[in-house]
Amino acid sequence: MIPVTKPFLPPNEEYNILIQGIWERQWLTNNGPLVNELELKLKEYLNVPHMLYLNNGTIALQIAIKALGLRGEIITTPFSYVATTSSIVWEGCTPIFVDIDASTLNIDATLIEAAITDKTTAILATHVYGNPCDVDVIKVIADKYNLKVIYDAAHCFGTTYKDRSIFEYGDVSTTSFHATKLFHTIEGGAVFTKDPELLKNMAYMRNFGHNGPEDFFGVGINGKNSEFHAAMGLVNLKYIDEIRDKRKELSAYYDKKLERLSKTTPVLLEGSQFNFAYYPIVLPTEEILEKLVKVLNDNWVYPRRYFYPSLHHLNYVERQYLPVSESVSKRVLCLPLYQTLSFEEIDFISRLMLRLQNN
Ligand SMILES: *Cc1c(COP(=O)(O)O)cnc(C)c1O
Repeated sequence: MIPVTKPFLPPNEEYNILIQGIWERQWLTNNGPLVNELELKLKEYLNVPHMLYLNNGTIALQIAIKALGLRGEIITTPFSYVATTSSIVWEGCTPIFVDIDASTLNIDATLIEAAITDKTTAILATHVYGNPCDVDVIKVIADKYNLKVIYDAAHCFGTTYKDRSIFEYGDVSTTSFHATKLFHTIEGGAVFTKDPELLKNMAYMRNFGHNGPEDFFGVGINGKNSEFHAAMGLVNLKYIDEIRDKRKELSAYYDKKLERLSKTTPVLLEGSQFNFAYYPIVLPTEEILEKLVKVLNDNWVYPRRYFYPSLHHLNYVERQYLPVSESVSKRVLCLPLYQTLSFEEIDFISRLMLRLQNN
């Protein structure tokens, strides 16, 4: 069976060495030494000034919204994972969707201004598949209307724009270190900001608002992560360049093999360095997609319709007319891409797809 992804697992011995240390210290969670070490190493690797390691990428979004004190309407993209929208609603705000650009699959920055009302407080956009949004244009709009910007950068580990980590853009950027992501700590996530006040607020929020054992700074939640998760991150970080390079090779191989398949692929933002987190293709019609999925599944290959459906179909949001997201979400397919995928398997997958097209 060839799934869409397989989580990377480092050599067992390397993980066990760190776990042994946890047994010796008997410090399992609550900002332990491995969590601190992981934060330091990640800041160094990503070359970012601040980050807070959290228990997942959804809590990261919720803490970002809460710490910025957002209310009212938040402009967002309908083409993302459900957590982007659900976090807005969970925090008592209203998502206002702006359609996506058909070539980048990110929020169409040229449509944002028309969606701004006197209730708008922020823009929350996803850098879809690791391809950065038009952050410069979005910043100009946000400054003009005094809006906050949050980027859901769950797909963006290692992505850079103009030689800086993409996590440095926006008032807050969030990411996920879930097992299916490029870099993972089993479950995990993070928030990034350059604002020291905001950082302090989010640090308190991560730990119930505790300011010492008997005092509270403000409302908080449990956003902490454990020593076991940090240990996985510390070991995986040693392999991340190797993982990315392998995925780059596999992606280039797909490019070559699928050259003759009728499809489009997202156009990357100029000035950005891609991380090869996904291999998405957009097919001409949903009918073709369904036929391809059937043939692949019949041969034990499981690509994923990601993202589908478009988030404006959620039963807890207002109906909106978003023709591009509607159309793309019905035609997009992420093909298998992971460290141990072989070139022969890509040959097999490509042959199945081309054979169907040419029949
Ligand atoms: C994975 C993902 C999330 C959620 O992250 P978790 O760590 O699973 O909570 C949010 N947004 C996007 C775009 C994602 O891909």
